[in-house]
Amino acid sequence: MSQTLQVVIVPSPGMGHLIPFIEFAKHLVHFHDYFNVTCIIPTIGSPPDAMKASLLALPPTINHIFLPPISFEDDRSDYSEVGNEVLISLAMTRSLPSLRHILKSLIETNNRVVAFLVDFFGTAAFDVANEFDLSSYLFFTSNAMALSTGFYLPKLDRMVSCEYRDLPELVKIPGCVPVHGRDIGEPFQDRKSDTCKLFLNIMRRFGLAKGIILNTFIDIEAGALKALMEEEEEYSGEVRPPIYPIGPLIRAGSSDHGPGSDCLTWLDNQPSGSVLYVSFGSGGTLSHDQLIELAFGLEMSQQRFIWVVRSPNDESANAAFFEVQSVKDPFGFLPEGFLERTKQRGLVISSWAPQIEVLGHGSTGGFLTHCGWNSILESVVYGVPMIAWPLYAEQKMNAVMLNEDVKVALRPKVHKEDDGLVIREEIAIVVKELMEGEEGKKVRKRMREILKDAASKALMEDGASRKALLKLAHEWKNQTAGN
Ligand code: UDP
Repeated sequence: MSQTLQVVIVPSPGMGHLIPFIEFAKHLVHFHDYFNVTCIIPTIGSPPDAMKASLLALPPTINHIFLPPISFEDDRSDYSEVGNEVLISLAMTRSLPSLRHILKSLIETNNRVVAFLVDFFGTAAFDVANEFDLSSYLFFTSNAMALSTGFYLPKLDRMVSCEYRDLPELVKIPGCVPVHGRDIGEPFQDRKSDTCKLFLNIMRRFGLAKGIILNTFIDIEAGALKALMEEEEEYSGEVRPPIYPIGPLIRAGSSDHGPGSDCLTWLDNQPSGSVLYVSFGSGGTLSHDQLIELAFGLEMSQQRFIWVVRSPNDESANAAFFEVQSVKDPFGFLPEGFLERTKQRGLVISSWAPQIEVLGHGSTGGFLTHCGWNSILESVVYGVPMIAWPLYAEQKMNAVMLNEDVKVALRPKVHKEDDGLVIREEIAIVVKELMEGEEGKKVRKRMREILKDAASKALMEDGASRKALLKLAHEWKNQTAGN
């Protein structure tokens, strides 16, 4: 009988969640060659090309299976008001019957399934795993600060009755830099909303996991990880499973000429460290007013830039989450004459850039980011200092962490609190400061000389993250020995 052990991983729909799952799978099969991984992927609509391309490039020891897509087309009116988080969670729940079916046939053909890892939005699948006696783990694609918040919020929910943004004092999440209530994840800003209730319900199920795997590393989140790994009074007696920080796992660069790869040739012709890369992740969108301010701000800064532009959306900051590509031509929304005026030092690309290759290119000297956790880790691994421009989810907390705690990012001020605009003058100042100023020098130094180094050490043979992965692998291997 084959000695290969199976690990099943179940990400939620969307690139941002799939990427760390497949990176985890790659590390696992690379360092522990007695494992095979099956990635079972729930989807909403048909999967984007970028997703299919990432999956097709995987080694033969990692299989993938798309579950039948969940569609909200027929009952769109019922869901027109709900956020993406609710849709993702519904898609995960509606995918449970097909997940059960696939798991059953997988176990029938190979009874050596030793672990079942699900995404934050998929904790309902713990019950399906229990039906087959599988050990369930939560694979948390965000960071320790967000996880710590997840354990702490049910307590805060009981303690205060106002909206968190109205709290007069800073919120002290165990082990983390204190944050304003308004910076706690966007889903919690309206406590009566379905999204807030959904998140609280999900978080209450964290304790059911046999372990929680986190794509982070000690030096970037020492306080939060220590608090999570030790008994902390503030968590109010919540059961916390063992924590495994195995990061930073990021995608490797590729020499394939994917979408937007002309920008690498453009970068080849720019001076070292001179270009600011501007991107809002796989689904981030700005309002039209904000897009205009950003365009003028970049122009006024007189700095070189690559900007991944997406069509604006005035309703939602993650409007492109499932599509990635803009539906309309995004260039049509830019200020008149902008492309012509900036063509000597700026490159604007539509919807998608080969981000890893851009961040790893010697001409890139800064990253204006929406503070998605994958983007942050990628920037850290390549030692690129950031401008933190959070949009949704837990990104405002990430921005506080980067700016005030780890000190590897500058943060522009929002001038009109009401509609949250960052105006062009402020953008020009902060971009110039990052690329040429004294503050920029400080964050660049910290990023290059401290954090980048620590990230690479964490993954070395005796590094803490490699040891955490080894511990998991042993646990899974020993589990079969005991069976
Ligand atoms: N990404 C990319 N090109 C783009 C935009 C995003 O390759 O133009 C990748 C990026 O490298 C990262 C992921 O998509 O790995 C985005 O994940 P993140 O957690 O930063 O943000 P999310 O998209 O989940 O909000």
